[in-house]
Amino acid sequence: MRKLTFFAVLLLLLLAIASGLWAIGKSRTFQFFGTIVPRVDTKEKLVALTFDDGPEPAFTDEILGVLKEQDVKATFFLIGGALERHLAEGKKIVAAGHEIGNHSYSHQRMILVTPSFVKEEVEKTDALIRAAGYEKTAHFRPPYGKKLFALPFYLSQNNRQTITWDVEPESLSEVAKSSEAIARHVLDNTQSGSIILLHVMYDPQKKSLTAVKPIIEGLKQKGFRFVTVSELLESKQ
Ligand SMILES: [Zn+2]
Repeated sequence: MRKLTFFAVLLLLLLAIASGLWAIGKSRTFQFFGTIVPRVDTKEKLVALTFDDGPEPAFTDEILGVLKEQDVKATFFLIGGALERHLAEGKKIVAAGHEIGNHSYSHQRMILVTPSFVKEEVEKTDALIRAAGYEKTAHFRPPYGKKLFALPFYLSQNNRQTITWDVEPESLSEVAKSSEAIARHVLDNTQSGSIILLHVMYDPQKKSLTAVKPIIEGLKQKGFRFVTVSELLESKQ
């Protein structure tokens, strides 16, 4: 009987540890090593627009067109594998003056991964980002926001920050249904120093892509100025 209690307690303990690690793995605001940035403390009304995934030829020109028309510089967290297939699209984004971030090579959850896997995912993508013409060190954003030990450790050893976000309209199923709801959610939830996450590179219905213009116009009207992630980090108070 005593033995049974011991194993029951051990099992509960292991479950508690596992659920704790699971929560940390998906947290936007905590990781075990280095710096994670979901937003920046700044008194200025600055906001960073970030786009994950791609580049994809079907969407690049359209998003670049909207940003040019609105005179806004954004940050694109690109996937190494996609960049390898569509380097010309990456070059267009760099040439338009946007910031490039590293979003891994194969877009896998960086949870139970080895240090050598992490190094290869990050550095292979770094090389492709340089091949696209971007010279600065790219900030890193984990695919699905997932990380546990090896990734944060590698990034902290290499003086690189993990960039997440604090405004994510697409994660709410009701909001993700329409461009109008996406734009409204962003306008209602953005504060000074916010980092907005959108995916504009694969939805054939272009719900997020169509929301970009009203988001920019609406936030400008509220007095916000759009900056890149690096510029936002520099404004930290
Ligand atoms: Zn992604």
